[in-house]
Amino acid sequence: MAVGCAASSRRSERMNMTDTMEAAPLVEVRGLVKHYAHRTGPLGWLTRKAGRTVRAVNHASFSIARGETLGLIGESGCGKSTLGRAVLRLHEPTAGKVLFDGVDITSLDARELKRMRARMQIVFQDPYSSLNPRKTVEQIVSLPLQLQGGVQPREMRDRVAFMIESVGLKADHLRRYPHQFSGGQRQRIGIARALIANPAFLVCDEPVSALDVSIQAQVIQLLENLKRERGLTYLFISHDIGVIGYVSNRIAVMYLGEIVETGPSRSVLENPAHPYTQALLSAAPQVDEPERKRNRIELRGELPSPLDPPAGCKFHSRCPYAQEICRKVEPRAVEIGGGQSVACHLYPVGL
Ligand code: SF4
Repeated sequence: MAVGCAASSRRSERMNMTDTMEAAPLVEVRGLVKHYAHRTGPLGWLTRKAGRTVRAVNHASFSIARGETLGLIGESGCGKSTLGRAVLRLHEPTAGKVLFDGVDITSLDARELKRMRARMQIVFQDPYSSLNPRKTVEQIVSLPLQLQGGVQPREMRDRVAFMIESVGLKADHLRRYPHQFSGGQRQRIGIARALIANPAFLVCDEPVSALDVSIQAQVIQLLENLKRERGLTYLFISHDIGVIGYVSNRIAVMYLGEIVETGPSRSVLENPAHPYTQALLSAAPQVDEPERKRNRIELRGELPSPLDPPAGCKFHSRCPYAQEICRKVEPRAVEIGGGQSVACHLYPVGL
């Protein structure tokens, strides 16, 4: 999806929404770390023995206000999905805290976490592999209610039928199997499954990237409508700056496991501060602000491996502004005004 005029008017609308949001965040992530042992490849056993570690997420901190959409953007493989799953404790964090509605979910036992899960759900990227092909739509969508327990069969049937119609499918689809649906319809089933237990918070993990472009807008609009009707809060993950610009109130930019910039959507998109954010925007087609206003940076080379990340600033091997200090010292996030913060030595602490 291109960043265009429609996105610009959406951003104005969202800025107003942001102004009226309640102050207390629904989700607070503090210093979240997710490292795991390297297990893939033919020599996986050997590297594991050698103690190699994938540093997927490093000290990520951010908060999401009630009713807000925080867009998490970055290249494929930068750790966005791992972060989204760690926020829900679908991946156990290595360190750090996640506060959901004031409760530290990283300290909950299995039973308490199961209760909390009803309020925090995920829409997966791939609508083909995320639905059990041997289950009917009714079985798939009702699963969170079955796990939650305490819902009578009659009520469960009614709620599932209502939910499936809320996502634009029909009650007679409930007896069918996933292979009988298109990609867009399957993602609607995944959304119905995520929402059936009335969650307050949804991690949308690249929910449209596996879909045809013509279907993407429909699914995004569905998520937007459901958010408005149900008062939901989203962490919306995508590698597509156009999608992120369209859906987000605020944006967090991730590079090699680290959050390098956060801020209100308009500020980040119109005045990107971090060289990596500038590079992402330079690569986006049809950006609506005049090109002369933006620093054009071509993103060269590949994302370094999280098995062997560069020292200092993780972006220094690709950054045209890299200085000596960037190769040695990791930059800390600093506030640069207007709610925007950036981790880059071009913006010294105490600026
Ligand atoms: Fe570039 Fe240095 Fe800033 Fe990293 S800290 S983004 S290398 S200028």
